[in-house]
Amino acid sequence: MKTIGLLGGMSWESSIEYERLINTEVRRRLGGVHSADLLIRSYDFGEIEALQAAGDWEAAGARLAADARRLQDAGADLILLCTNTMHLVAPAIEAAISVPFVHLADTTAAAVTAAGLDTVGLLGTRFTMEKDFYRGRLETHGLGVIVPEEPDLTTVHDVIYDELVQGRILDTSRNRYLEIIDRLVDRGAQGVIAGCTEIELLVTPEDINVPYFPTTRLHALAAVSAALRD
Ligand code: GLU
Repeated sequence: MKTIGLLGGMSWESSIEYERLINTEVRRRLGGVHSADLLIRSYDFGEIEALQAAGDWEAAGARLAADARRLQDAGADLILLCTNTMHLVAPAIEAAISVPFVHLADTTAAAVTAAGLDTVGLLGTRFTMEKDFYRGRLETHGLGVIVPEEPDLTTVHDVIYDELVQGRILDTSRNRYLEIIDRLVDRGAQGVIAGCTEIELLVTPEDINVPYFPTTRLHALAAVSAALRD
């Protein structure tokens, strides 16, 4: 089994889900007392969020890239970045390492395509919904991407930072998200990507009646497949 390096803590509310999902899947596949072989770098999200708010993606990228390299030097055979948003700096990370980087947008696009969909709604932070690093990457896989309009876009973003990364899961916000998902479906979305690793803590597949793509789960399962491949 290969060693999986995780760049996490963005936020830890979803990173602990990564750890739980990866270990659960390794147990399911290998049985007995087996668990995953992990190296974890977990940040103070307050420091990362400050860089995001300042738009200092260069500093954020340099920091994550240096730590990805440290994970590799410590023995990681593959690297996961446990947040959709910070994939904005994925090129810096990929340039710093020689082991595989399991890109979250590629993993997600593969799942959407495998489900037979070609147009999908995307929920995430403002950065993920508006900037090209994520939408554009999905589009290179042949997918049409629909994001919420205002004021829904701001609502989706604010719920992530004001509630989900702080461990607050509120029924009122779930209902607002479900209404926003309905509007995406009305505009042509055949399914919805939970394109922020905390969203699946709020909205589960059982909550909606279109195909749902929870990125933490998809990424965690992809990592285990890569770690157990020969
Ligand atoms: N975990 C979130 C994501 O997947 C948001 C927090 C962050 O900005 O990293 O985008």
